[in-house]
Amino acid sequence: MKRYYCQCGQETFFNNTYCNICNAPLGFDPAKQALLSLYQTDQQEEPIWLSFDLQGNQYRFCQHREHEIQCNWLIDAQSDQVQCLSCRLTRTIPMLDKPENIRRWALMESSKRRMIYGLLDMGLSVTPYTTDPDKGLTFDFLEDQRSNAAIEQEYVYSGHAQGVITMNVAEADSSYREATREAMNESFRSLLGHFRHEIGHYYWQRLVHESTYYEQFHQLFGDERTDYRLALDSYYANGPVDNWQEHFISAYATMHPLEDWAETWAHYMLMRETIETAFNLQILPTLTPYSNFDTWMDEWMQLVVVLNALNRSIGNADAYPFIISNTVRTKLKFIHQLVNG
Ligand SMILES: [Zn+2]
Ligand SMILES: [Zn+2]
Ligand SMILES: [Zn+2]
Repeated sequence: MKRYYCQCGQETFFNNTYCNICNAPLGFDPAKQALLSLYQTDQQEEPIWLSFDLQGNQYRFCQHREHEIQCNWLIDAQSDQVQCLSCRLTRTIPMLDKPENIRRWALMESSKRRMIYGLLDMGLSVTPYTTDPDKGLTFDFLEDQRSNAAIEQEYVYSGHAQGVITMNVAEADSSYREATREAMNESFRSLLGHFRHEIGHYYWQRLVHESTYYEQFHQLFGDERTDYRLALDSYYANGPVDNWQEHFISAYATMHPLEDWAETWAHYMLMRETIETAFNLQILPTLTPYSNFDTWMDEWMQLVVVLNALNRSIGNADAYPFIISNTVRTKLKFIHQLVNG
């Protein structure tokens, strides 16, 4: 994540809507990946906002700004959209007659915006389903009977199919997430990680399937045409293979080649944003060019030693409970080259 500053000099943060020193409205321009401090033009029918930083740029606020969602993303003033790029991706939301669903939805949107920031930073285009019904992307945020007895569906699992990402809104509850993490014997589970995992399935279709990378994908991750249902049943009956750490980033990645891909992709996004954040906070003195994967990776391994040591001193569990084997490193390199190539 980059560091942002208000026109008054105060440091501001990705989700902020106002500067807490000078009270200037803040808005995020996804096209420029910049958090801008704004001022209003002379009163018009609909307010138009100008940026102190980017002279000449004109914006409107996302419809969800003055809403519990508190979305701070901007829309180009000339656009006829009423919602920002991120909000437009959401197709279904849970029933808002329960206050906890408003809170859950707001958390989902906040994690989604951060995930999209990562995609844009990787130079990937993000196209809503409403713009391109064949190749676009959309999200359904759903409840199931476990959190709402009035819902028809007994279980809603996170997943992706043909550009539609389904997420169970209960994942926004830390108690649910922690219970699921323990039940599934996972070392790590986060809402942002869920978004990064599911978007990995989507970009597999966009970037790997029917591309020249498909063959190499098979060599590294295996043949994704093997029966998914069978693999799923076997995984939940028998657990991960022994010594899975030698070949996979997580136990869940052992389930099926497509899950291995999504888990590795999510991990790559985690690394990429964390390295950028460390550089911008001057914890890393330089940002190694993406052409130099091995140095980039070595720096990452040094950074996570610091990250875990700081967390242990605080009394927290390790922030980074992963082992990167040589095989996993090769898979990460494949994604790195795919994204940067
Ligand atoms: Zn300010
Ligand atoms: Zn929005
Ligand atoms: Zn998956």
